[in-house]
Amino acid sequence: MTSTPPRNTAAVIGGGPAGLMAASILSKQGFSVDLFDGMASLGRKFLLAGIGGMNLTHSEPLPQFLSRYAPQEPQLLASIEQFSPNAIREWASNLGIATFVGTSGRVFPSDMKAAPLLRAWLRQLREQGVRIHTRHRWLGWAGDGTDILRFSHPEGERYHSAAITILALGGASWPRLGADGGWVPLLRARGVAIQDLEPANCGFNVDWSATLQEKWAGTPLKSVTAHFEDAHGQRRQRKGEFVLSKTGIEGSLIYALSAPLRETLNLNGSAALFIDLMPDQTLAQIAAKLARPRNKNSLSNHWRKAGIQPVHAALLREALSSEEAQQPQRVANALKALPIHLTSPRPIAEAISSAGGVEFSALNSGYMLNALPGVFCAGEMLHWEAPTGGYLLTGCLATGYAAGLGASRWLLGAS
Ligand SMILES: Cc1cc2nc3c(=O)[nH]c(=O)nc-3n(C[C@H](O)[C@H](O)[C@H](O)COP(=O)(O)OP(=O)(O)OC[C@H]3O[C@@H](n4cnc5c(N)ncnc54)[C@H](O)[C@@H]3O)c2cc1C
Repeated sequence: MTSTPPRNTAAVIGGGPAGLMAASILSKQGFSVDLFDGMASLGRKFLLAGIGGMNLTHSEPLPQFLSRYAPQEPQLLASIEQFSPNAIREWASNLGIATFVGTSGRVFPSDMKAAPLLRAWLRQLREQGVRIHTRHRWLGWAGDGTDILRFSHPEGERYHSAAITILALGGASWPRLGADGGWVPLLRARGVAIQDLEPANCGFNVDWSATLQEKWAGTPLKSVTAHFEDAHGQRRQRKGEFVLSKTGIEGSLIYALSAPLRETLNLNGSAALFIDLMPDQTLAQIAAKLARPRNKNSLSNHWRKAGIQPVHAALLREALSSEEAQQPQRVANALKALPIHLTSPRPIAEAISSAGGVEFSALNSGYMLNALPGVFCAGEMLHWEAPTGGYLLTGCLATGYAAGLGASRWLLGAS
């Protein structure tokens, strides 16, 4: 295919929430849309997100909601105001999927699932004339221009031309679901500024002893408080729960702190997280219990009688020398601020999402790449990150919506 494609044609590459939303906008406006994905079916990560309860968005007031995208809040402001959490609920409702606000303020489909929503969405896209091409893995462009898209397909290389292209290729977490960051070198080679992809909402490695790995991996620590000083000297503190793993620590409390922890590790080479294992008791109360006469009790028994859980005892033994473990005040201090030394984030393949991606400075206000006129980007492949809580999907849907509108405006203006 070499002739100039008609001006009403669009190619969307990536069938996750961002690409589906872009395809939806363009097809609704009458453009002829071809949607490509490297996998055998669309929306695999979207479906996975539905397994633990699909958290679509959040009901908190918009200013607070937007603050979750800091420091990229200003860059996402326009797209999220345009396709807001309320608009997302309305969109789902128009697809026949009612939503509700959970006790935490998070918004879920009424059956908590992603599959019915995805099915209804794909049905609507087909009805709007979108042609879906699975097993088409984008390899870049043929030649120096951006006219001819190259794909690998089980039956050999394929080519396609459209007047505009929207890339919605995701980040690099859970690569077996399709998004593996393979687009990074392709766009860098075309002069697009990209921040390295890094794990976000991720766990961290800790050099645990063999005993802790064998006996305590998988144990949750509930209702604890974690704090640390970030790379800018700011104290970060949060309540919640986390899980000990063979390789370190993971779970919602850790994910929520993972962005500043990752940054601290990047800048300082190390990061220590301090856990208050007994937030409901004061240091003095704990110290008083530990200072009671030990008599003939073993240290473990003495700790148990002072209300120290076995998993807490195991963590104390990781943090204290055997001499320090004999000193009630040292033990009490450690129970209120147990240091856990993080060595590195867990690999991006295990993370819930990715940080890094295409810089907003590489895009115009319509999400078109300055370096590649006619090529637009949306979703997790852009340089923003957010905690879990519906913010990730909202960011993807809103930027997909904005890129769809940006492409439509560009096609109309340029035709
Ligand atoms: C376990 C888990 C649970 C989650 N739960 C939630 C949740 O409850 N709420 C929430 O807000 N977020 C959640 N997320 C995050 C959310 O799912 C993602 O942020 C979102 O799916 C990203 O959307 P996207 O469209 O940008 O990219 P993706 O959904 O990753 O889609 C990208 C698509 O591009 C395709 N692709 C990539 N490269 C190529 C190529 N070269 N050629 C062709 N196709 C390609 C992929 O196959 C894929 O289909 C969760 C993530 C995980 C891993």
